[in-house]
Amino acid sequence: MLYAQVHLTLPAWTHDLQLEPSYPSDDDKMALAIELSRLNVEHGTGGPFGAVVFDAHNRVVSVGVNRVVPQSCSVAHGEMMAYMTAQQRTQRFRLNRDENDQPVGPITLATSGQPCCQCYGATVWAGIDRLLIAARSNDVEELAGFDEGPLPANWVGELENRGIEVVTDLQRDAAREVLQQYRDTVGVVY
Ligand SMILES: [Zn+2]
Repeated sequence: MLYAQVHLTLPAWTHDLQLEPSYPSDDDKMALAIELSRLNVEHGTGGPFGAVVFDAHNRVVSVGVNRVVPQSCSVAHGEMMAYMTAQQRTQRFRLNRDENDQPVGPITLATSGQPCCQCYGATVWAGIDRLLIAARSNDVEELAGFDEGPLPANWVGELENRGIEVVTDLQRDAAREVLQQYRDTVGVVY
């Protein structure tokens, strides 16, 4: 029988997160994204990646962690889970535009790892204004062994051309520690 629906879930432990009322600074935002990546590794509920969507008042709209293996779903990366749950919560397919196409941003995504080619594409359409990144793609490839896929050579500039501010290397070392922790946990050998 053909399937006519897709059902993706975040791990049960996300219900127990003690979230702050707001996360004013970029460091505050990234600390939460990296904490999610660490918790996902420690609970064994997916790959070592976390992402968070914040609204214009620095409040959490949604969180996402990698769910590819548990959900048998190649698109279930942390950024995608955060975008999709934010879009369902707000009922906005572009997060920074309301039903009258008026801006409601700035909307920020903080992600523990540089978006892969899939999440990069999704970022163009998701309707965010700011993208905060911790680990670089070569950190991800070196420490966790994932293929990040092809990106435009000027991938930051292409986002900035679309009005998306990009901040890189934010708490990069802390994100690298989680990638290392993941490698040690799953015993990947290179
Ligand atoms: Zn991705």
